[in-house]
Amino acid sequence: AFDVLVVGGGPAGAAAAIYAARKGIRTGVAAERFGGQVLDTMGIENFISVPYTEGPKLAAALEQHVKSYDVEVMNLQRAVKLIPGDVVEVQLANGASLRSKTVILSTGARWRQMGVPGEEAYRNKGVAYCPHCDGPLFKGKRVAVIGGGNSGVEAAIDLAGIVAHVTLIEFDVKLRADDVLQRKLRSLPNVTVITSAKTTEVTGDGQKVTGLVYEDRAGGEVHRIALEGIFVQIGLLPNTEWLKGTLDLSPRGEILVDDRGQTSVPGVFAAGDCTTVPYKQIVIAMGEGSKAGLAAFDHLIRTSAP
Ligand code: FAD
Repeated sequence: AFDVLVVGGGPAGAAAAIYAARKGIRTGVAAERFGGQVLDTMGIENFISVPYTEGPKLAAALEQHVKSYDVEVMNLQRAVKLIPGDVVEVQLANGASLRSKTVILSTGARWRQMGVPGEEAYRNKGVAYCPHCDGPLFKGKRVAVIGGGNSGVEAAIDLAGIVAHVTLIEFDVKLRADDVLQRKLRSLPNVTVITSAKTTEVTGDGQKVTGLVYEDRAGGEVHRIALEGIFVQIGLLPNTEWLKGTLDLSPRGEILVDDRGQTSVPGVFAAGDCTTVPYKQIVIAMGEGSKAGLAAFDHLIRTSAP
C-alpha cells in the first residue's frame, strides 16, 4: 500500500506529491490527465515569479518535477470509487484498485460551457472563463460576460475597470447575484445589462472572436453584438461526482475541507479546485496541495505503527 496516494495530477496534485515524497514516504499519483486544466491554458501571467509561461510548458515542468522524486505516476487512470478505512481503497475505471494509508483528492474542476456554435472554436481566442487570468488581455476592448450570478457580476465589475465596455448577458428575467453586487454593477458607466437573453452563437473571423448572437427570450428577436472577448461565467463544476455519498460535499459539490485540507473522512485530504477553498488559481492550488501533503504526513506520524 502507499503511504500517500494523490488522485489528480494538476498543480494541486503535483504539489501534494512533491511535498509527500520529500518526506521519504511511499507516494503515488493517479491522474486521468496529468497536467489538468493547465494543459488547456495558453498564456499564464500570474504564476508568481514567472512573468509569462504557457500551459503545456508548465504542465511538462510539473510532471518533470514530480518524476524527479521517487513517485509512482499512474497517468490516464480515472478513479471511480473511494472506500474509507484504516487503509483507504481507491478503485479505478480500469478495474484495478489502489490502497493507501492516506489519500489526497485533487481532481480539480471544469468550467460549464454554453454549448453554442463557435464557443469551442474560439476558446483562448476571445472566449475565456477566468477573469483573474485573462482580464488584462482585453484592456481597452469590448467584452461580454455570460451569466448574472455572483461570479458573473463579480467578473463584470472586475472587467469594467480594465476593458472599454462590458455587456452582461443573463438568461433569466433578472440577475441572481447578491444585491450589493448588483448595485455596484449598475453604478458603473461602462456596463450594459441585458436580461432574458439566450446566447446562441459566438462569431469570429476565423482567427478570433468578433461578436456574439443572442435571442431575446421575451420577443424572440435575434441581436448581434460586436466585441472582442466573451467571459463565460455559468458555473465551475468540481470533478467530485464519484465521491457523492462518500464524504461531505458543499451544495455545489465542492469537497468540504478544514484549514489543513482534512475532509470528513479520516486520512483523506483534498486540495485545489475540487474543494471549497475560494479563488481557483494555479498558485492557490499549489499552496493547498502542499498543505495537504504536509497534513497527510502529520496524520501518518500520529496514526501509523513505526
Ligand atoms: P486541475 O488542474 O483541474 O487538475 C485536476 C486533475 O485531476 C487532472 O489531472 C485531472 O485529469 C484529474 N482528475 C479529475 N478527475 C479525476 C478522477 N476521477 N480520477 C483521476 N484523476 C482525475 N489559473 C491561473 O492561476 N492562471 C491562469 O492564467 C489560468 N488560466 C486558465 C485558463 C483556462 C482555460 C482554465 C480552464 C483554467 C485556468 N486557470 C488559471 C485555473 C487553473 O488552471 C486551475 O485553478 C488549476 O489548474 C487547478 O489545479 P487543480 O490541481 O486543483 O485541478
